[in-house]
Amino acid sequence: MAPRNVALVGIGKIAVDQHVPAIAASADWHLAATVSRQGSVPGVPAYTDLAAMLEAHPEVETVSLCLPPVPRFAYAEAALLAGRHVMLEKPPGATLAEVHELAALAAEQGVTLYTTWHSRMAHAVAAAKAWLADKAVIEAHITWREDVRKWHPGQDWVFEPGGMGVFDPGSNALSILTHILPQPVHLTAATLTFPENRQTPIAADLTFSGNVTADFDWRQTGPQTWDIAVETDRGPLVLRMGGNVLELHGKPVAGEASIMGEYPALYARMAELVAAGQSEVDLAPMVHVADALTLGRRIVTDPFHF
Ligand code: NAP
Repeated sequence: MAPRNVALVGIGKIAVDQHVPAIAASADWHLAATVSRQGSVPGVPAYTDLAAMLEAHPEVETVSLCLPPVPRFAYAEAALLAGRHVMLEKPPGATLAEVHELAALAAEQGVTLYTTWHSRMAHAVAAAKAWLADKAVIEAHITWREDVRKWHPGQDWVFEPGGMGVFDPGSNALSILTHILPQPVHLTAATLTFPENRQTPIAADLTFSGNVTADFDWRQTGPQTWDIAVETDRGPLVLRMGGNVLELHGKPVAGEASIMGEYPALYARMAELVAAGQSEVDLAPMVHVADALTLGRRIVTDPFHF
């Protein structure tokens, strides 16, 4: 089958690091246009306005949105209203309600909406889910500590309302947790640490039902830690490297320490969804984020500057 035409919107860090190479390597997709106020991709028709691109490119059936969450809704709504399939970067919106609205609109328009969670596509996540399926979870702990200056250099939006602060990476951990646990959990308490000059937390400690806890911190320099440790009635499971490496009973058994498979897998899934005429909208990770921001106790810490 001929590749499907996709337009990328918001040519910034993640578009350049992951979306452009994933599309280029895929037989399913052809990058037909970009929309970005400043960014572009060499050799690809570039627009600064979404409506102009949609009008000029009726062959673009799918629009993939790589913008930060706050500006994303208006672009998603316009693309759906124009009858195009839409793929959303994570987290899928700035609020839960706007994603519910987009899901309803996609259904009305008869097009696909896909709320991607790239960490769910990490190499060892499916194996972890399969192993846990018939186990009883006794406790679980997430340690998600990374360096905001490395992953979001100069991106002030992460500290603005709707940017979600440390929940931007934390939602990756929660997307894996909500996918692999055999029983759902809900948040019962949270402590959120805000830099005194910023609107969103730089660290968070979360407690869930079922003896599940999480420690998110954006101030870790040097080696980065993206681990989920689960104790079960039949021994321990640990997912390391953001879900890319699986250890059972203390020994590595599956995966590889590379994140480069995640975005190709997202585009393969989008091709399947479009072909099947289906949507995939999962807000479970974002529900936990919203609950943490609802229940969280606030601690104020030193100002943060990039
Ligand atoms: P980014 O580089 O700061 O933003 C992407 C692009 O969006 C910008 O270059 C900008 O392009 C456009 N944009 C920004 N604010 C806008 C606004 N108010 N209105 C219209 N366009 C705007 O961010 P990113 O790191 O790529 O992250 C984007 C999304 O990908 C986030 O949801 C993030 O969670 C997710 N993500 C990021 C990473 C990562 O490592 N950084 C990893 C996985 C997922 P123009 O200036 O050209 O318009």
